[in-house]
Amino acid sequence: MNTKLHPKKGQLISTAFTACFSICLAGNALAATWGYTKHNGPDTWHNIAPMCKQGMNQSPIDISETIQSDLNPLEVRYQGKLTNFSNIGHTLQASFVGNNSVSVDRESFELLQMHLHTPSENLLNGKQYPLEAHFVHQNAEGALAVIAVFYTSGREANEALDRLIAIIPAAGEQIEMATSISPTDLLPKNKTFFRFNGSLTTPPCSEGVRWLVMKNQLAGSTAQIERLQKVMGNNNRPVQPRNARMVLH
Ligand SMILES: [Zn+2]
Repeated sequence: MNTKLHPKKGQLISTAFTACFSICLAGNALAATWGYTKHNGPDTWHNIAPMCKQGMNQSPIDISETIQSDLNPLEVRYQGKLTNFSNIGHTLQASFVGNNSVSVDRESFELLQMHLHTPSENLLNGKQYPLEAHFVHQNAEGALAVIAVFYTSGREANEALDRLIAIIPAAGEQIEMATSISPTDLLPKNKTFFRFNGSLTTPPCSEGVRWLVMKNQLAGSTAQIERLQKVMGNNNRPVQPRNARMVLH
């Protein structure tokens, strides 16, 4: 403890440091103990995060038997740019600067990060896609909303994916740079969606997450998707029981 500090201020800093240190350590410890192999994969996650097994509204799901309803259109107001691309071991994750918000249930949610899964986690009428992007947002109360986009694979390369693939960092590393990549470049133009309640698809599998899965897919080339798959491996949690949930559209 620095004795030159005013006692109250010192105490405050010390408390804040302890809190942050514990949370960061817990987060890192959790991240280090789960993965997608036989020994640390989804079947074992409940050992470190009970919600992964106890939860009744877990993600991902097979999107089927959807119900037509009066959903408000999704308003996307992404104005910023991608400035950081990280390889955090179990996924590739991008973060952005600037004002990037969406309106869900007339509430504003800020974009925290976008990350990728190969193959897709959610299914659509039993169909799995080779790639799924998750845009994770948070509102002022800390609630989360995820926009998910499926990618099909074909002959034509996707320009935005190409620019991301060009800067893939090595495992455990991140690249900070000013880019012209807007998060909008990674969303389909037609933003109609399926809506359901779910969870994080990784430990701690917390529920209360609002899922919005785009009905329209984007396309990448087979080579692009193979490249992402090679870097991340199979990082998809299997589909979870729907239980009493409805999928609206
Ligand atoms: Zn995800």
